[in-house]
Amino acid sequence: MKPFGYVRAATVEEATDAYAHHPGAQYLGGGTNLVDLMKLGVAAPDTLVDIAALPLDTVEERPDGAVWIGATVRGSDLAAHPLVRGRWPVVSQAVLAGASGQLRNAATTGGNLLQRTRCPYFQDTSKPCNKRTPGSGCAALAASHRDHAVLGHSSHCIATHPSDLAVALAAVDATVELTGTAGSRSVPAAEFHRLPGDRPERDTVIEPGELVTGVLLPPHTAGLLSVYRKVRDRASYAFALASVAAVADVRDGTLRHVSLAFGGLAHRPWRARRAEAALRGTAPTASAVDQALDAELARARPLGDNAYKVPLAHAVAADALARLTAAPARED
Ligand SMILES: Cc1cc2nc3c(=O)[nH]c(=O)nc-3n(C[C@H](O)[C@H](O)[C@H](O)COP(=O)(O)OP(=O)(O)OC[C@H]3O[C@@H](n4cnc5c(N)ncnc54)[C@H](O)[C@@H]3O)c2cc1C
Ligand code: SF4
Repeated sequence: MKPFGYVRAATVEEATDAYAHHPGAQYLGGGTNLVDLMKLGVAAPDTLVDIAALPLDTVEERPDGAVWIGATVRGSDLAAHPLVRGRWPVVSQAVLAGASGQLRNAATTGGNLLQRTRCPYFQDTSKPCNKRTPGSGCAALAASHRDHAVLGHSSHCIATHPSDLAVALAAVDATVELTGTAGSRSVPAAEFHRLPGDRPERDTVIEPGELVTGVLLPPHTAGLLSVYRKVRDRASYAFALASVAAVADVRDGTLRHVSLAFGGLAHRPWRARRAEAALRGTAPTASAVDQALDAELARARPLGDNAYKVPLAHAVAADALARLTAAPARED
């Protein structure tokens, strides 16, 4: 591993200043992804700016019913928090569907969103990879790509984004809060991650040096029915082949609100806006759900090894919606 400097920041300002004053710096959360990539030679920061001690480790309720989750809240604490479990169960379920108990004890909310793809060619420095080394090519295109994207991919990169939490945050209309030396801003979680286009080295819209300070769960999805369903090769400790985060509000047999985001299918959580538009205001019968999902997944462009993902995603989303719409009706 390449030698590197280490700075432990006590405040957000100290962290962003340290990043600005140390060329080649990278933030360190729980280190469960970044340190692995450093050992593999995929990441080689000159300085690690450790943010684990920042005062961003709380979950706080806001007066309007929103809930703020600090960027250094650990996965285990996020999943177990009563406000999150009670009002946005999909978020808690998504965190618990990922990694292992030990990893969730160490991994942070911010680090989870910024984790890199699990494409095996990205992690293998002997293989060309446009995400790791822009312009070098994409080894996955000509090799096995069973786990890769079916939606939104490009000829430059066919990787998927691995975070389960990001999928749930996209479905509940969360926002990601960022702070850099130029100021602070908020980005909708559904727009935080990018499609690869011709710049696959950029996973997100974050600018160099910007720090994720927290995530805001909005009041309008609090208390709605929600569920996270994930299909993977093993029952635990495995990334999604296809997953879905579903949020619904069914009253008098009609879907007043529905939001769906897929994981495991694209370079970012895939918010299924076509399916949502088709279903909103309708009775969620099995045939209406099938038609809406068909309309969404008609956009898929499966590759040689991964056509199975399209019917799998359809099935997992239909199952999630069936579970929600079979739940006891909500009173007005
Ligand atoms: C065996 C294994 C199985 C796993 N399975 C799953 C799974 O099924 N589902 C899933 O979702 N995840 C899974 N994970 C990934 C795990 O969730 C991530 O490793 C973890 O969430 C990363 O968080 P961290 O705090 O350790 O990030 P770090 O490793 O510290 O950082 C990751 C990246 O984020 C950047 N970063 C960290 N915090 C911030 C911040 N606040 N602002 C800006 N940049 C920041 C770092 O610079 C780095 O680039 C698995 C990991 C392992 C090792
Ligand atoms: S799919 Fe993306 S991450 Fe994987 S080898 Fe190709 S460019 Fe790299």
